[in-house]
Amino acid sequence: MTRVFSGIKPTGHLTLGNYLGAMRRWATVDQHRAEALFCVVDLHALTVDHDPARVRRVSRQAATLLLATGIDPGLCTVFVQSHVDEHARLSYLLECVATDGEMRRMVQYREKAARERDRGGSVRLSLLTYPVLMAADILAHRTDEVPVGDDQRQHVELARDIAARFNQRYGHTFVVPRATHPEVAARVMNLQEPSSKMGKSDDSGPGIVYLLDEPDVVRRKIGRAVTDSGQDVRHDREERPGVTNLLEILAACTGGDPEALAGTYSSYGALKKDTADAVVEVLRPVRDRHRELCADPSYVEGVLRDGAARARAVARPTVDAAYRAIGL
Ligand code: ADP
Repeated sequence: MTRVFSGIKPTGHLTLGNYLGAMRRWATVDQHRAEALFCVVDLHALTVDHDPARVRRVSRQAATLLLATGIDPGLCTVFVQSHVDEHARLSYLLECVATDGEMRRMVQYREKAARERDRGGSVRLSLLTYPVLMAADILAHRTDEVPVGDDQRQHVELARDIAARFNQRYGHTFVVPRATHPEVAARVMNLQEPSSKMGKSDDSGPGIVYLLDEPDVVRRKIGRAVTDSGQDVRHDREERPGVTNLLEILAACTGGDPEALAGTYSSYGALKKDTADAVVEVLRPVRDRHRELCADPSYVEGVLRDGAARARAVARPTVDAAYRAIGL
């Protein structure tokens, strides 16, 4: 059976980008057709300035939201990365296979490192090596497919390279994984700055729709989305980035085709209204289920405990085999 692995970083409130780019497919498709593991990748949250008092809480919140999206622990495995030592254990071995040049070429590293330096801060070494830990997350579970948003394309490509190189040097140990992306909304853009992706952050950014935003907040944010000069509704990422983003969101929420949808609108106002309505409907069951889950935190704890035991059992033989193969 195909094995699927993917993760979310507990670094802030999850967004509509996380949902449409990744999480929705995990719940609606992947867990039903594959042996799936979904992970709250808390070690990755330590790569930038973090508050130790919050990491554990934010991880539980992210896990609760994962379950609220319809991820069913009866069908798949849900766990927290730091509960399964195999990820960090394997990461070191893979650091002995990856090169520093590969790390420095990663676009996300370059952008995040530049931001840290601009703020006058220093760049943690773990920010540079983050893609190796991500490769370990994937390879430890002998993953076939990694369903992710477009921004993770380069990192999964690197995991493939590392797997192939390890296998070639030390004997066949890892499955070489491949990324899968949604057909639409693989990169949801910020509503206020359609040139940058809708990333999670802790401030209540007006350009970011959070999964738990109330309907009136969703409507206000989408109603105030930056559109483009001109009035025609066209699907054109270069010339009409704001409108194209709304069309992609609407198409992802309704199951339509963004280019075909463009032809059915003659004003930005109508497009915004329909997009807001569609997003509110898509998020409604997530908010409802989230409310139920919050009333029963011990249920979430139990899911994560079982999930860690299952994930450990999946990962250990592969990580042990990697240690033997490399000569330890
Ligand atoms: P973030 O960049 O929000 O911190 P994570 O690293 O936790 O995201 O990503 C979780 C998943 O959500 C990944 O598969 C990522 O590709 C996807 N994702 C994140 N932001 C977006 C976006 N704006 N559009 C589409 N997918 C996204």
